[in-house]
Order: sequence, then structure tokens, then C-alpha cells
Amino acid sequence: MGLAEYKRKRIFHSTPEPSGGGKRGHALFVVQLHHASRRHYDFRLEHAGTLKSWAVPKGPSFDPAVKRMAVQVEDHPLSYAGFEGDIPKGNYGAGHVDVFDSGTWEPVGSVREGLAKGELKFTLHGDVLRGSWVLVRTRKDASKPQWLLIKHRDAYAGPREADDFVDPRSDRPLPLRERRKVWKDMEAAADPPASALPAKDVGKRVAMAEGAFEPELCKVATDPPSGDDWLHEAKWDGYRILATIKGRRVRLWSRNGLEWTHKVPELVDALRSLKLRSAQLDG
Ligand code: MN
Repeated sequence: MGLAEYKRKRIFHSTPEPSGGGKRGHALFVVQLHHASRRHYDFRLEHAGTLKSWAVPKGPSFDPAVKRMAVQVEDHPLSYAGFEGDIPKGNYGAGHVDVFDSGTWEPVGSVREGLAKGELKFTLHGDVLRGSWVLVRTRKDASKPQWLLIKHRDAYAGPREADDFVDPRSDRPLPLRERRKVWKDMEAAADPPASALPAKDVGKRVAMAEGAFEPELCKVATDPPSGDDWLHEAKWDGYRILATIKGRRVRLWSRNGLEWTHKVPELVDALRSLKLRSAQLDG
């Protein structure tokens, strides 16, 4: 593709984006979070002196069952990999750009053949994106080639999203240290359920474990408790669901600690809209 299309779309005295250049080294990849007219992630792989580029509206998912639309856009110069900042109004892609993740990538087999065939398998070594992935071109007739970005099943697969590494309040990537920490927390969360927050810590600012926790259970009593500290309501029939919230990452648990996140996605969306940074809810 080369950089002709990239250069055609931009007026370089009017945008801080690079006009070209950049050194070749290890094959690098970068993902940028771009708040253009439509929020999207830009997924870029170094190949043959440029960055092959895809716009991924919902961002990469670590769940192998999820296929993320990735629209191939014009190749970008290698120097674009470090680009962060504001593309001024009136320019192509106007809006804020942050580097979301970067690192190196390794193709499985020939990149040229993979791109031609429409099936490119590769491994990512990033701070956020890791392990084995594939880009598959769809047969859809569109002005720009449409691909699907899919995580392969491996140690880095799981029910997590690029958005889990984004600060829900600012909608900007979490600081790098925290993006890395989220991984560590997730690994820890794979261990047996963490216990509930001890009563003495309620109200304190503490980082909460992400695993299932013990629900509050009722006790049989002869009389209802008295005083104004109590609310009484009818008992609704249904399921007891525990929720853990860490930024945009919301997980749901049954009272026995089985994960229910994917069974009630509407509940996940509702909890995510609360924009809580860290919480455990028993409901
Ligand atoms: Mn973009």
C-alpha cells in the first residue's frame, strides 16, 4: 500500500502527526486509543517499512469467542507508533490519540502471504496484549477491507477487554504501571475466591479482590430488628448475584462462586455505567 494514501489524507502543517520516516528495528506493534468522531482503537503491525493498520471500533477482546471488527485503513509510517496528542479540528481523524499498548510482534509464517490470503496469525509481546491472535479477512463487500481480530486460546485468553485497561472516568488508558498491574491482579483472581472485605475495613479506600466473595446471608430470628437503621422490603424471587468491579472490568458471580459474567451482559453494562473504580456488590 505504501504511504501515498496516508499522505493524501493529511495536511502536515496543520496536524502534529508525523509525515513519514521512522527507523526499522524489531517488528513492532502499537495500539492507539483514538477519540475521533467515533471512538476506536487503532491496531498497527510493522511490516515492510510501514505500519499495517486496522481501526477496531470496540478494541481487542481477550475472549476467543469474541470476533472484533477490524477495518483495514491506510498504512502509516513507522514513526506513527509513538504518536500521541491532539489532531486538530478540521483534519482527518481529528481528536485525541493515546498509545494504549506497544511491543513487538511475531508472525506465524509469511506476512505477505497472510495478508494476501486474508488470514494472518501472530503473537504479541505487549504490556497489555499478549499471546496468540489472528486477523481474518471477511468476504463482505466494503470500500475498505473488513477483518476480524480474534484471540486464540492460550494462557492470556479470558473474559477481558481492551476497555478494562482504560480509566472509566477519563476514558484514557490507565497509567502503564496500572495497565501492567491489572494483569497481575487478573492472574491472582484466577486463584480461589477471595474472602469478603473484613467489617473493620468497610469505608476504607482499599483495593478489592476481583474474585467471588462470601455473600451476606440471613439469619433466622424470632422478631424483626428494631430502630431506624433498617429498611424492610418484600423478598423478590430470583438469583443471588455478586459483582466485582475494577474500572471497566465487571465480573458477576453466583453465590457459590461460579462466574456468571457472560450470562447477564445487560447487568454488566448497567454496573459498568456506574463508573466505579473498585467495588464489591452483593445483590
Ligand atoms: Mn484512528
